[in-house]
Amino acid sequence: MRTMKEISLERFIQKVEESGQPLSEAFLQHEITETGKPREMLWELMRTRMAVMNQALKRGLESPQRSRSGLIQGEAHRIANWAATGGSLLGGGFSKLIASAMAIAEVNACMGRIVAAPTAGSCGVLPATLFTVAGERAVSEEALIRAFLTAGGIGLVIERSASLSGAEGGCQAEVGSASAMAAGALVEMLGGPPVQVGCAVAFALGNLMGLICDPVRGLVEIPCVKRNALGEVNAVTAAEMALAGCGSVFSADAVIETMGKVGRHLPEEFRETARGGLALLPIGDGMSPDQARA
Ligand code: SF4
Repeated sequence: MRTMKEISLERFIQKVEESGQPLSEAFLQHEITETGKPREMLWELMRTRMAVMNQALKRGLESPQRSRSGLIQGEAHRIANWAATGGSLLGGGFSKLIASAMAIAEVNACMGRIVAAPTAGSCGVLPATLFTVAGERAVSEEALIRAFLTAGGIGLVIERSASLSGAEGGCQAEVGSASAMAAGALVEMLGGPPVQVGCAVAFALGNLMGLICDPVRGLVEIPCVKRNALGEVNAVTAAEMALAGCGSVFSADAVIETMGKVGRHLPEEFRETARGGLALLPIGDGMSPDQARA
């Protein structure tokens, strides 16, 4: 049974629309009230966490990350190198986006230091989305911090109204939630109004509705690392649709609540038990990276 107070994204949106403040301000005020910590401390805490995320991103891009299981072989570094030679299908920015999410997720798979945002398995989605787009758009540090605060607020609403846990709700609750957090945060970072933040959240979470959790060998490696790239691309897609003015026929709260319901209906096999989906496939009968390059 939930003991924490449920909160609504739409209520936050209505509140800031009346006051004309950014959504990040309402989330920050909420955090001050809930934790009793002063604004400056929360602001500084966010900067510290962003620094950790940035270090993980750099580490994963600069050197190939290899996990002890052998399932992760530095693919993020490989994509970054490939893009640098002009191989990218849609230009360097897109490859950078994919490689960045995978880089952070690979650092996690190799027991490196990351920020679970919202979870370790989905840790690449949010920072890679915001850092990559902020870099492309020369966004100020304040706007970037505010975007992370918005993401945190969205995550809090999802946690209270549905779930952020793969064991509870499948990968839709982990990578799906991370993607929704990133999508909404991106909209605020790029100057979209709060109502578009809500649309982006609804799009991103709706797109990944039903995604199961099926970690191979029970390790947060396959399919997790590549799903971080999926979550990130989905976040940018959702944010772009919202910023272009596409409206959502469902409220963000309704989509969040539905994700929670879908999660509760997912069979146990698809909730982090490694007893279903890709986790059941034999390893090694696909193509190795060396074969793929041949
Ligand atoms: S597959 Fe499961 S463990 Fe992996 S990222 Fe998704 S929810 Fe997390």
